[in-house]
Amino acid sequence: MPREEMIVACCTDLAGKVRGKAFPVDQFDKRQRRGIGWTPTNALITCFDTIAESPFGALGDLVLIPDPATRTRVVLDDAATAENFALGDICHTDGRPWELCTRSILRAALDRLDRVSGLTLKGAFEHEFQLLGLPAVPGDAYSLAGFRAERALAETLTGAMRSAGIAPDTFMKEYGPGQYEVTMGPALGTAIADQATILKELVRASARATGHTATFTPIRDPESVGNGVHIHLSFLSGGRPATWDAGGRYELSRKAGQFIAGVLKYIDSILALTAPSVISYLRLTPHRWSAAFNNLGLQDREAAVRLCPVNDLSDIDRAAQFNFEIRAADAAASPHLQLAALVNAGCQGIEDGLDLPAATAEDLSLLDPASLAARGLVRLPRSLPEALDRFASNPTVTGWFPQGFADVYTSHKRGEIAALDGMSETEVCALYERVY
Ligand code: GLU
Ligand code: MG
Repeated sequence: MPREEMIVACCTDLAGKVRGKAFPVDQFDKRQRRGIGWTPTNALITCFDTIAESPFGALGDLVLIPDPATRTRVVLDDAATAENFALGDICHTDGRPWELCTRSILRAALDRLDRVSGLTLKGAFEHEFQLLGLPAVPGDAYSLAGFRAERALAETLTGAMRSAGIAPDTFMKEYGPGQYEVTMGPALGTAIADQATILKELVRASARATGHTATFTPIRDPESVGNGVHIHLSFLSGGRPATWDAGGRYELSRKAGQFIAGVLKYIDSILALTAPSVISYLRLTPHRWSAAFNNLGLQDREAAVRLCPVNDLSDIDRAAQFNFEIRAADAAASPHLQLAALVNAGCQGIEDGLDLPAATAEDLSLLDPASLAARGLVRLPRSLPEALDRFASNPTVTGWFPQGFADVYTSHKRGEIAALDGMSETEVCALYERVY
């Protein structure tokens, strides 16, 4: 009996998981019109598969409609089995976007960016991950030997990215035990988050094809380094680079500066969306090359927003190279939600004409709260409950999202926190390592 190939229609959910349903590939045309059935309470399934308190209960029906633009079919080394999936939007049965559809929320944020600025978002995700079960090899960080050890994975992944239409950029042995980093080339608009999602799945599949299990958990061991997500952003206007201005503060165009000012103003209130797990807050601590304050850094790898250096040797001109990265983010989040939160914060900065704060260049963990406050700096929330409170109590921020979103999101995350009740930090880290 021959096997019959299936495709999974899926989406990134509030838990930052990719969930969906499969159907035979010959149904794709039909499904891209009418979708597959979906259930509202699915939005309350935490990353641990517990179900948080749901306003929907057993009621309601939705459809998940796969978008052919995200259709990904990649044959890894085993020709018999292809990865085959497509991301999609969750809609009400009358076709309206569902209020908790992460992709629709991102699309609305990008529409807002277009409305307030005329800018198109360009961006790329840098993902760090670790391979489970590998010993720490002294001297391996950033090394050729460390790359050589996983060349098969790196090359399987690069081929998979190419075949999925994601531009391969770099791959390297990162600092931590079994830790690697992969960066995609830039994409535009919704495709930034789509490709970031697809890339993570291709890492998982390539790891599996080479005998490994990959985890993107924010941190495995508080004594060691974390796995960050660095989101690189820039803008186009009329197809031309619009982030750089020779005369602007830190060479940023006026709107790019206002966008970043918005991100910095609201980052503490959107952290619950960009770094949304309980252990995300073990990573967002000083001296870990992550981010612990709402600061702008020029070349500082501990800044919440870092202006990335431009390279005079490049054949790409300065204006097109110029981009900034957001470092207060990790892979427990849905890339769609993460980007939606950042874009909305940036839009608020543009709408309110916010001034870009001065960049910092020192160790902010040495400053007392009064000196920080005098410079408009705040320590980012130190725990998920604190981050959730900042989110839920900021009406400007909750107002960026559809009606009901903030309550459901908060309920979901409170359910995630409750599921860890009574566990030690080591047990909590071990559990997250398995789910992400
Ligand atoms: N692993 C660090 C993090 O958690 C980042 C290291 C780097 O600068 O690439 O964000
Ligand atoms: Mg890195």
